[in-house]
Amino acid sequence: MRRLGDPAATLARNRIARIEAASPDDLSALAVARERQLNTAGWENFRLPGGYDAVAATLAEGTRIRLNAPVTEVSWASAGAVVTLASGETLPARAVILTASLGVMQRGLIRFDPALPQRKRDAIGRLRMGPASKLILWFRRAFWPAFSFLGADRQLPSWWRAAEATALVGFAGGPDAIRLGELGERAAIEIALAELTALFGPDARNEFLRGALMDWPSEPWILGGYSYTPVGAGSAREDLAEPLSTLFFAGEATSINGHVGTVHGAIESGWRVAAEVMSGMR
Ligand SMILES: Cc1cc2nc3c(=O)[nH]c(=O)nc-3n(C[C@H](O)[C@H](O)[C@H](O)COP(=O)(O)OP(=O)(O)OC[C@H]3O[C@@H](n4cnc5c(N)ncnc54)[C@H](O)[C@@H]3O)c2cc1C
Repeated sequence: MRRLGDPAATLARNRIARIEAASPDDLSALAVARERQLNTAGWENFRLPGGYDAVAATLAEGTRIRLNAPVTEVSWASAGAVVTLASGETLPARAVILTASLGVMQRGLIRFDPALPQRKRDAIGRLRMGPASKLILWFRRAFWPAFSFLGADRQLPSWWRAAEATALVGFAGGPDAIRLGELGERAAIEIALAELTALFGPDARNEFLRGALMDWPSEPWILGGYSYTPVGAGSAREDLAEPLSTLFFAGEATSINGHVGTVHGAIESGWRVAAEVMSGMR
């Protein structure tokens, strides 16, 4: 068994923490181990031709979606609920499914009337919204050797080849993502080019066209990347997922089958909550 302080153990610990978008000192090893035991989806990465919009568009087929309609308040009771939008418009509902990110819930951007019970507020407070960001760099040509994933102990610690043959995607999770956001896009690109030059030589700069930083912690309707379980959070996820009369909770943070922090975890939570709503209405 590797001991803490052993460079291989430190590398493994930092790598897992980055993927979980967590600080290594805060992440619950017990929760990660449990989630990995429960995981049935595997670890293979897939790219969606044309991007993720296709998933949302397919799932939304036949439904009415209102965009640019932020919810500011949810009044809930056993007889039904009323949702208030930032515009002041109110929408009555038989049931409300909340899928706003944990970051939005923690910031209290949606008011509840009556206030959420203590157990639910504790669950929201006990989990953590891990910061995660991506930096995409486009080049004139692919100058790198064939690789599927590259892990380096640097400020941009993970690289994938993008769907476009001449682009690379850098990923930062946890404290690295916060640092990148603080640096801003220009400085982040500079650092990435210096690090890629150290890895692949001067072509990194010579062939560079442009870059874009996707700083998710700064996105006002996300405020982070995805959730992780810190030490001592106990059953917070189960508590968060539990329905409250006409109020239902979905989204990746409510995933209780080991698929936390993923798109498939979020989709599965939607199936779970749809069944809960249907059985509640019967
Ligand atoms: C950099 C990065 C890399 C990732 N890589 C992967 C990966 O490789 N594989 C993978 O499976 N997952 C990955 N994820 C995680 C994945 O994106 C999330 O787990 C997933 O998007 C969560 O879906 P969700 O529906 O729970 O929440 P979200 O996608 O956060 O959706 C919540 C929605 O609620 C809306 N909202 C917020 N507040 C309000 C409000 N007040 N009123 C109305 N609407 C509101 C938001 O606009 C948003 O559309 C990554 C995430 C990041 C940030």
